Amino acid sequence: MRPLLPCFQCGDSVLDLRGQDIVLPTYLLRPEPSRRDQEVLEARAYGYVHLRCFVGSRWARLWAERIRENLEGVRLFPVVFESDGLVLLRHEVLSIRDTIVIGTDGYYASFGDVGIRARRPTPGGALIPVRHEFNLEVTGWGAFAEDIVRALQEGRSYPLLGLIEGLGLRHRLWSEAAVVDGRLEPRPGVEEDDDDGELWIEAVALYDTFVPDHVLSRVLDVLPDHRSRRRGRR
Ligand SMILES: [Zn+2]
Repeated sequence: MRPLLPCFQCGDSVLDLRGQDIVLPTYLLRPEPSRRDQEVLEARAYGYVHLRCFVGSRWARLWAERIRENLEGVRLFPVVFESDGLVLLRHEVLSIRDTIVIGTDGYYASFGDVGIRARRPTPGGALIPVRHEFNLEVTGWGAFAEDIVRALQEGRSYPLLGLIEGLGLRHRLWSEAAVVDGRLEPRPGVEEDDDDGELWIEAVALYDTFVPDHVLSRVLDVLPDHRSRRRGRR
């Protein structure tokens, strides 16, 4: 179970939602820090950050370089596209089939092939369904958090936007369309808490990630079956 962490740019809470928030660990910095790495450390410009606070920020370019160095040089993911401020890498190990997108402006996202095929159109791009476990301690957060916990304990789902608005985070969203229909669902097997005074949201989160059109077209270009279909047409 993880505690809630502040965004290093704005100080507001980060919910660690896919496509809305990213985490930048210090191990991605150079082991012998350059002056720019040193600046990141001194400014504490690492850890959790809202994508919206990060893209275009003064730290974005260095972090984009360090993320790429790690994926390409350490994890050996091949670069399959590079142009117009975007770098795409493929992660194909065992059953994993992902395309990772890094923008020089700090944009960073990862899209599974299965998710890309399940996308739905939305103005300016597409929405890709995501689903993951969601655990959060909300002791002392007030009535809205108690409402969420009660709903889940009674077997009801709760709108994800209710949590986002309760924390005052709506203006920190990268894409509102991606979470507006999102929900927290009760997680089977979660037992009711002992009365130890702690309040936890223990749920399954269902929402979407947003992929803008200019990124989607590049991702589709590097999907393996998409490539072979296009070759077959020639
Ligand atoms: Zn922020």
